[in-house]
Amino acid sequence: MNLSDLAPEYIRGISPYQPGKPICELAREMGMDERVIIKLASNENPLGTSPFALEAMSKALNEVALYPDGSGYELKVALSQRYGVSGDQIVLGNGSNDVLELAARVFLKPGASAVYSQHAFAVYPLVTQAVGATGIAVKAKNYGHDLDAMLDAVMPETRIVFIANPNNPTGTLLPAADVLQFLERVSPDVLVVLDEAYNEYLPNAIKADSLSWLKRFPNLLITRTFSKAYGMAGIRVGFGMAHPDVSGLMNRVRQPFNVNSVGLAGAVAALEDVEFVKRSYALNQAGMLQITTGLRQLGIEYIPSYGNFLSFRGRGDVKAINESLLRQGIIVRPIGMYEMPEHLRVTVGLETENEKFLKSLEIALEMGSKTAPGARAARVASGITTGESA
Ligand SMILES: *Cc1c(COP(=O)(O)O)cnc(C)c1O
Repeated sequence: MNLSDLAPEYIRGISPYQPGKPICELAREMGMDERVIIKLASNENPLGTSPFALEAMSKALNEVALYPDGSGYELKVALSQRYGVSGDQIVLGNGSNDVLELAARVFLKPGASAVYSQHAFAVYPLVTQAVGATGIAVKAKNYGHDLDAMLDAVMPETRIVFIANPNNPTGTLLPAADVLQFLERVSPDVLVVLDEAYNEYLPNAIKADSLSWLKRFPNLLITRTFSKAYGMAGIRVGFGMAHPDVSGLMNRVRQPFNVNSVGLAGAVAALEDVEFVKRSYALNQAGMLQITTGLRQLGIEYIPSYGNFLSFRGRGDVKAINESLLRQGIIVRPIGMYEMPEHLRVTVGLETENEKFLKSLEIALEMGSKTAPGARAARVASGITTGESA
């Protein structure tokens, strides 16, 4: 018998997470110069990293011979002040991914189950399966979470419900009142993980006051990250906020030094950089308008998004469109693994990047309609026209 046959079946059954294609990989494959490649595949911040964070991180590099502060004291103090929670309510993670995994390891086990939505963030099924628990995927409603159906799906052995708000890759947002009502109705024996990775990209007027819910609901875990609006995806810092009983358990399971010292220093500084987050937000708003306007002009259907990305329906052969984009040096994200084989997800970039993406998409579509004459006819028949001559 092979050793790997002896790994638990639920481990062997995991299909690996497919990350966005790295720039260096495309450059290698296509013999392209890395500098001409535009990656709009992983919801990274096109402005780069908060300059405050960069400075703090380069200073912190001088200290990497030492172990990090395993308690993350300074960052917890900064987060406490910012979010009005106490230090013992916070769990720091190697990205918020780590926090999601800690929640699964604390509350799930073989025989337990977790509920999440179809088309929701891929990490939820992954962390569920990794601990041998059962994932219950609930059919989406208009690509978003169907909270009523998710509530119905909760079984006596369900211990976690994952809610991504906004969701990735669909960009859908649940109204705050709906999430609140869900919390009021769901059994207090179920941990509700509210994943707010894109919170900083929401207009203030529609942001849920989710932190205030922590006082009412000891079964709520809110997760946030420095990967997106703060531009620190590569250094891996995220955090969760919950009732101290919940965070206490998660902190016991956590690796003692799960967040590195450079990331800790960067995150503390990044929190101060209100200006950078403001600029990131404004750039995203403008870029989202630019991309949606462009897609409409191309007659491309898309799902309105509240994140820094958007999923659009490729016309005809999505694989061919993606390959054409790659050949033109544009990396977007196929989302077949999210049960959306007809969509591609694009991250909002700089104005010039968005423009290049739209141009390249137009070329990809042209080529598609040339190689498959049926495609354009189908488009015309369905009432979608692009205004271009045949
Ligand atoms: C990007 C993302 C995260 C954050 O991942 P990190 O591990 O913090 O980099 C979490 N949830 C969703 C829905 C995301 O899209």
